[in-house]
Amino acid sequence: MSNSISIPRKLPLLQVADNILLPGSSMRIPVRNLKNMNMVKTHLLGRNTLSSTIIGVIPREPLEDSQTDELSTLHAIGTAAVVVQVTGTNWPKPSYTLLVTGLCRFKLEQLLQETPYAIATVTQLDKLTDADDELNQNSELGLLAVNFRDQAAKLVDMLDISIPVVSKLKRMLESVPSQHLPDICAALVKASNTEKIQVLDAVDLTDRFKKALPLLMRQIEGLKLLQKAKKDKAIEIRISGKEGGRPYNMRRIFRGKMKTDVDDEENEENDELMDLETKIKNAEMPEHAHKAAMKELKRLKKMPQHMPEQAMIRNYLELMVELPWSKSSTDSLDLNQARRDLDTDHFGLEKLKKRVLEYLAVRQLKKSLKGPILCFVGPPGVGKTSLGKSIAHTLGREFHRISLGGACDQSDIRGHRRTYIGSMPGRIIQGLKTVGTNNPVFLLDEVDKLGKSLHGDPASALLEVLDPEQNNSFTDHYMNVPFDLSQVMFIATANNMATIPPPLLDRMEIIQVPGYTQEEKVSIAMRHLKPKQLQEHGLTLEQLQIPDDSLKTIISKYTREAGVRTLERKLAAICRTVAVRVLENSSTAKREKQKTLQPEKGGVSASSEHLTDVLSSHDATALAHPPEMPIVIDDTALEDILGQPIYEREIPERLVHPGVAIGLAWTPMGGEIMFVEASCTAGEGGLTLTGQLGDVMKESASLAQNWVKTHAKQLNLDGTELSKKDIHVHFPAGAVGKDGPSAGVTIATVLVSMFIQKCVRSDTAMTGEITLRGVVLPVGGIKEKVLAAHRAGLRRIILPRRNEKDLQEIPNNVKADLVFILVNDIEDVLRAAFYDLQVPVDPFVTSKL
Ligand code: ADP
Repeated sequence: MSNSISIPRKLPLLQVADNILLPGSSMRIPVRNLKNMNMVKTHLLGRNTLSSTIIGVIPREPLEDSQTDELSTLHAIGTAAVVVQVTGTNWPKPSYTLLVTGLCRFKLEQLLQETPYAIATVTQLDKLTDADDELNQNSELGLLAVNFRDQAAKLVDMLDISIPVVSKLKRMLESVPSQHLPDICAALVKASNTEKIQVLDAVDLTDRFKKALPLLMRQIEGLKLLQKAKKDKAIEIRISGKEGGRPYNMRRIFRGKMKTDVDDEENEENDELMDLETKIKNAEMPEHAHKAAMKELKRLKKMPQHMPEQAMIRNYLELMVELPWSKSSTDSLDLNQARRDLDTDHFGLEKLKKRVLEYLAVRQLKKSLKGPILCFVGPPGVGKTSLGKSIAHTLGREFHRISLGGACDQSDIRGHRRTYIGSMPGRIIQGLKTVGTNNPVFLLDEVDKLGKSLHGDPASALLEVLDPEQNNSFTDHYMNVPFDLSQVMFIATANNMATIPPPLLDRMEIIQVPGYTQEEKVSIAMRHLKPKQLQEHGLTLEQLQIPDDSLKTIISKYTREAGVRTLERKLAAICRTVAVRVLENSSTAKREKQKTLQPEKGGVSASSEHLTDVLSSHDATALAHPPEMPIVIDDTALEDILGQPIYEREIPERLVHPGVAIGLAWTPMGGEIMFVEASCTAGEGGLTLTGQLGDVMKESASLAQNWVKTHAKQLNLDGTELSKKDIHVHFPAGAVGKDGPSAGVTIATVLVSMFIQKCVRSDTAMTGEITLRGVVLPVGGIKEKVLAAHRAGLRRIILPRRNEKDLQEIPNNVKADLVFILVNDIEDVLRAAFYDLQVPVDPFVTSKL
């Protein structure tokens, strides 16, 4: 490459006060002052891909506080440099670090702008060429260069060539063209900034050799002395505190420091390294991990301090020693005890507990965790996570929850390679570090919400974690050594089975947790949630009482969910309010007591009469329970704290007009009731649907419309009139996407209700798919839907006859409250949905089933 390269005429400037960059060397420059930060932000990070990463690094005198004119403080000559890397941090203050490589000298001609960062026109001073033309033509210069190269080689020979950095340096110095040697060597040896500036200012090459040579010679002399001292053993040079300790590191050699004793800094560093070494030995790692750790430790020892890589290796080693390679908790499984533990922590959930106990028993007998992973599927707040915790507790294992919702990168699971700045291990390894044992229970929460991105599919990484054939040598990218996960017990949770990636689903045994009935919720609230919230808010039963009736009111009028999470939140809200009252009361009581005990100072206010009565006995214990305690939460208190009931009047209010009916829907949040509304205007028989509907739902609507049109006569409607109406069907809660065929019967009912101008019964909900001929087909999620209707206080449910078998799963107490109308076709549905509607039997229908 003999052609010379030129740098741009205009360069953004990086003003550096405490270091000198010379051409041919690389340096990390911390960026903290405002203009430099602006330059990095605007020019380097905000740049479009076409602008160059070449900047001018220019020495600047350190600024005095009062000094504002920065121009005069800039040096006349600087080094054009290419920015290789930009790293940034926010801690302790925002700052960047630039890794730059010097290219050539430039002369500052004119400052074009000073703010937000300096830009100047410059003249390139060095030719960027690899040819030694000038040296060949000028014999004095040629001689100087040969001598310089000899000296440089001598210096490198004196260093320990077994250190990789040194051998690399040697190779580099041998191959680099001679005219670059003065700059490179001046940057390598220990030299003051003034000396380096002299080298920078030496635009003439001969001059430059002359300025740099003494620096090189001084370094060689320093090293010679050092080696002599070592040889003679006249002075004991302790470096690592023990014989045959680590070799001199480059930093010290270049500084030319000759020490006869170990300074504090080094002592501390050595202590730390020894400490790390002991930790590695004590970490009981398997052979391969131990080897890897020792290799890294060796690298760390040889690495000059303050290099960013040093911190990276340190972090890595610290993780390695903290991982529970051989530390496990003792697995204790007593099946009877486990049954008791699960019962104490959770009300109901009999099927689930039974299945968990079977699972544990088999694992215990087989003495292995191989086999499918348990996956609890159900709406939020039904106790999936807390059941996982109970399992860990009963087994005496540590518990850790790994939330996978939104994880879309395989590095979430498997970590980043250590080549990235800021790389980290994945969540599995981090989890192991947190729990400190190698046999915890890991709850993989929300496996149905795993995302996908360009950076690999987290599901496939997870598959490796869960596969008993592979997971005994799970290799995190960051760690780069395998870790045995075969003792970890994994449990997964999900809201929606349909969105669990199929390969993962294949490894799992699904246990459905459908949601609770009102009665179950009351029991859960009484036995678990109320005591738990009281305890968490530091309250006692003497201070707060929530009668069962109030619990029922909260459940029926303030919540409508499959689980008990909102219920728990409402109870927490009550506890918070009461906690404030309790404190207010007790401080008033204290004040009042003081007043009562010292009547001459203040007297008793009228408002505290009652209090004074109590306190007049001077009974100190009365203070502990101020007179209004316990606070009993009745309906009025509920309204004060939680506001007006949310769900009380909804159904009767909404069903007072024709053209509205209640459908039942299945969602990942559990079953839900769904109002379907219709209206019509003059038009041409069109159909508009709103409320974020999927394609299947739209098809159901067309089918329903078609059925109504073809059966107009039976319904005593005018067919031609119908075809002149545009219909609009709306499914409220438009923010939630809905799809599925099960709204067919509801849409048909709504349309009929609108056309015959008759209200649908307000105590009735319905679900079912329809065919073109009006046959009602079975649908899924019956249990969730029935529970939702029950929660909402509905009493009659219209279901496809072929779903009759699903009713077995419904708890008896719920069944007892409900009337199920099993239907074969739409005529059945309509008869059940309206009070005394005479729908003649369609001659087709009888033969249809
Ligand atoms: P999920 O993981 O299913 O979303 P959580 O496990 O977080 O739900 O449960 C929410 C809260 O409800 C927890 O405080 C839990 O203890 C409580 N809970 C849920 N079901 C029950 C139950 N059957 N018995 C006792 N508490 C329950």
